[in-house]
Amino acid sequence: MTRYFTATPETPIGDIRVTTMLDGWLSLDGGAMYGIVPKVLWEKALPADAHNRVKMAMRPLLVRTARNIVVIESGIGHAVPPELHERYGIERLGPTLDEQVRAQGVDPAQVDTVACTHLHWDHSGGLCKLVDSKYVPTFPNATYVLQRGEWEIAINPSNLHKASYTPESLTPLASRLRLVEGNAEIVPGVRFDFTAGHTENHAVIWFESRGESGVFFGDLVPTLSHVPMAWISAYDINAGGSWQAREKLYPAVVASSAKCFFYHEPEYPVGRMLRDKSKYKSEPIG
Ligand SMILES: [Zn+2]
Repeated sequence: MTRYFTATPETPIGDIRVTTMLDGWLSLDGGAMYGIVPKVLWEKALPADAHNRVKMAMRPLLVRTARNIVVIESGIGHAVPPELHERYGIERLGPTLDEQVRAQGVDPAQVDTVACTHLHWDHSGGLCKLVDSKYVPTFPNATYVLQRGEWEIAINPSNLHKASYTPESLTPLASRLRLVEGNAEIVPGVRFDFTAGHTENHAVIWFESRGESGVFFGDLVPTLSHVPMAWISAYDINAGGSWQAREKLYPAVVASSAKCFFYHEPEYPVGRMLRDKSKYKSEPIG
């Protein structure tokens, strides 16, 4: 079995086609990724390296509906300078996001909509790319649909938020934004479900077509192994808020048999959530 999954699977949800791409890898402290969960438990899910770090993927989505071509999250792109790559264990050896979109038969200029669950640099750094040392939008004709509060924090971060955002890689988007607040349609069949928790304005993204559902968790549930209720990352700005958001979200995920997309999952990027009495667990699909 391949420990780290590098393919780009396509998952149908009714008429919607969701392709899971791969922007690369980063290695984050295992204790931080699993919050209050003790290492004796989390290391069974993911092994730690010599620095106690676990290897996380970054998996943006290409979403094709009957009417729209949507990219969700963007990986790191060029937002983090190469001298910081060692600190975060960043490995970006594969094709860039626009090359991956092209490999799926889509010209980046055809992408009409881009959305993000939140704007931490490992999710938004590829929204713009560097051309002649200047950031320009990676998808030149797209509307960027974002939560207003998330944008305002990202573009002018306080000391609390500075380490998590790279505003210089976002400012070229200012004239291409559609800012929304709370639950909102992104395009028909694709919608934000506001959760907060991980950030003050985090929103997961649902896909719905012909009675089928899918949900992209962003960082509220970063990997398949984070599905149990208390497995909440210490990176979350409000862990109690994440718990409450999960309590509200999980019954809907199970009831709709939603296909679940995990942005940071190294092995099983698509899964399903199951309820076992009062506990939630997950299993991979495909
Ligand atoms: Zn995040």
